[in-house]
Formats: sequence, structure tokens, C-alpha cells
Amino acid sequence: MTESALLKNGIVLSLDKKVGNYLQADVLIEGSKIAAVGPNLKAESAEIIDASRMIVMPGFIDSHRHVWEGILRNIGTDVPLEGDASYLAFILNTLAPVYRPEDAYVGDLVGLYGAIDAGITTILDWSHIQAKREHGDAVIRALQESGIRAVFAYGYPWWKYPDENQDRWIREICKEYFSSKDQLLTFALASPGPEFLPFESAQSQWQLARDLDARITVHVGVGTAGKHGKLGEMGKAGLLKDDTTYIHCTTLSDIELQMIADTGGTVSLAAPVEMMMGHGMVPIQRCLDRGLRPSLSIDVETNVPNDMFTQMRSVIALQHALLFEKKLAGETNVPAPLTTRDLIEFATVEGARANGLAHKTGSLTPGKEADIILLRTDKPNIFPINDPIGAVVWGMDTSNVDSVFVAGKALKRDGKLLGVDLKRLEQRAYACRDYVVSKAGFKLPRI
Ligand SMILES: [Zn+2]
Repeated sequence: MTESALLKNGIVLSLDKKVGNYLQADVLIEGSKIAAVGPNLKAESAEIIDASRMIVMPGFIDSHRHVWEGILRNIGTDVPLEGDASYLAFILNTLAPVYRPEDAYVGDLVGLYGAIDAGITTILDWSHIQAKREHGDAVIRALQESGIRAVFAYGYPWWKYPDENQDRWIREICKEYFSSKDQLLTFALASPGPEFLPFESAQSQWQLARDLDARITVHVGVGTAGKHGKLGEMGKAGLLKDDTTYIHCTTLSDIELQMIADTGGTVSLAAPVEMMMGHGMVPIQRCLDRGLRPSLSIDVETNVPNDMFTQMRSVIALQHALLFEKKLAGETNVPAPLTTRDLIEFATVEGARANGLAHKTGSLTPGKEADIILLRTDKPNIFPINDPIGAVVWGMDTSNVDSVFVAGKALKRDGKLLGVDLKRLEQRAYACRDYVVSKAGFKLPRI
């Protein structure tokens, strides 16, 4: 018999317009799937889970993170993207090259358990740490062990390009781990893209992805590199399609952004990173003006926290600041402010779409996978709840994340992660961090 659980009497935000949202309702999980959403559901044999002091909603979805950097958390909070003392110089050119497979494995575990703890049920792991084939195996093992739903986006190592082995390893890994699409882990190709590669190399990577029937995820409009119209060249050659997620897009031209919209591409904004590290102005309004509803992404834990509350608040605050500034300057034709409903969708439904998983996750829709979080409403930071969506977007934080289910399986209950020895993981994180930092001859920031 399939195991079932009934989440009883919660405030239910299905984020599916057909299903609706409820101030009090139930969600029935059968096996890995959502069986029903509505008031007064009955299920005789189901385990009853009291959700009466909870908001029940789809898990958050991160559409781009370099998860291997987990052991480098907060190492670069005062460094920008570009320059002599920068993320590119320190993280990608100094620390990444000394990573062993086990450092990538532990870095990933740290990031993944942090994500689950924060209510993230799906993550795209933009994994450009594949110095050897074994790095890929190690990262995939971490993804599997964590129980999270993930897109493993195979990335070419930044510091050693070109490397003739890479395309072969990609094909091998695809065959070994991703012969089915009906599993928790799916595959995408993380391409450095036309701003960081010769046109022909970018083109051949995208072709490889399409040969493998894999989605493409690519950084574009990245600081100075994004200002030279390289994506436009790919667009003019007819290479932009609806199988691609474009990350940042900060310094793209309007014409390039329009190409993304016209070809059905999806966008991933990493607003806190873009603002603090100098990628360029977060293009939220330019996306909205073209009908592009973005997904959100944490990108690098070297600089920013691992939760989607920060993501949602950064984007809505910035968009409001820019438009109210226009209003105060006397402009009359200003865009509409984003609402909290927009942001909660960016952090869920749109993330699922960008990760190629909208048919499986992103909303509480019967038939979809049961990727569900319970957010406590009885904490002193949030009661009384007067507007549940507003409470999630502007009021809550990770301390409200009580329970996390992925494909119906509980990965966190009663505020505690399940199936992981955190003390041991912490020890391993420090050991790997120590190895990487000392091997690279890197000095940790002084206090
Ligand atoms: Zn990135």
C-alpha cells in the first residue's frame, strides 16, 4: 500500500490558480505525489499531520547555485566580481583549482542541507568544479544523499579551458546517471557561454546540450563581459531557444533581453549578488516590461545567505525603490509595483519553469510531486497572520521553516533536519575548508 499523509487545517497557499489558496484546508500526500488539496479531506489510513499553526505551500526553488562553494561560505562578502582582489580571482582562479572530489562532495552537502533547512526543495546545482570525472561523481553522490530535488548542471571548470576530456565525461555521466528523466535528479548543461568563450565553443556546447536533450543554463550580461553584444551574436545565429535559462542578464542590451523573451527563454536573477558584487543593475523592470517573469537564485554562498526570503525581499524592495524614485521625481508613466504574490511565484512556480520541472513541482497541484513546506505561524516574529502571502514574503525567515517534504518524503520535521549527522558534517566542512585554503595559499579575511 502507498504511504499517505494528511496535512490538516493549515493555511494553504497552493499557488495554483485553479486549486486556489485557503485560510484553512488540507493537503493529502499519497506516495510521492499530491493527491488532493481542499477543506475537510478524509483519508482513513493516512498519517495525520497537524498543520493548524502552519502555512502550507510549495517548497522554494533555487534556479542557480554553485553548490560546491558550500565550504567557502561568507569567505568573500567584501569582494566584488571583477578585479585583482575579486570573486573571479579568489574563488574561481585560486581556490577552485585545488578542490579534490571530496571537497566538492562536502561543499555540496553543506549547501544542500542548508538549502533544505531553509525550505528549498529544488535546486539547480551549477557545478563548474569538474576538474576530473571523479568530481562529477562526488557531487552527484551528495545530491543523491541529501534527498533534495535537483538539476545537476554540469559545468566546465573555469580555470582550465579548453579541456578535451570534458565533452566525453558529460556524455558518460549522462548515460550513467541520467538515462531516465523521471527521477529526483535531472541533467542540464552549464555553459560558460559566449561572453567567456569563443563563439564556436559556445555554439558547440549548446549543440552538445541539445544532442543530449538537456536544458542549457548560462551566465549572460555579467558585468564588463556582458556589454559586448555576445549573446546578441548567438541570437542572430538562431541559437536562442526555449530550452535555456539566462542568469543575471544585468548588462545585456534591451535588444538582447528582447531576444530572450521572443525565443521563450527563462531568466534567473540573483539580485543580492548582482547588487553587492557589481554585475550591473538588476534588470527586474526590463524583464517585466517584456513579459519575462524571472526565477530567483542564490548563486554564491561565498557572498550571500542561502535562503529565498532574502531573494524575494531584495527584488521587491529594489523594484519599488526604483519606481517610487521616479514617481517622486514627478514622472507620471511609471510601472506598477510588484506584489508579494508576484514574488512568492518567482520563488516557486517560476523556479520550477526555469529548471524544466514545471510539470512536477512549483505549486500544490494534485498530480504533481509532493514538494511541500510547512512554515510556522506561531513564532514571535510573525503572529498574528493577517495576510499569509505578505507574511511569507516580508515577515518570515528560515526560523519559520518547520517541515520540508520532497517527493512526499520528510527531510525536515519539527524544525530539525532528518537523516544527517550535522556535527560530523560540520567537522568535515572545516577539514575540507582547511585543506583547500592552505593548499591554495589563501588567507582568510582578517577581522
Ligand atoms: Zn553564477
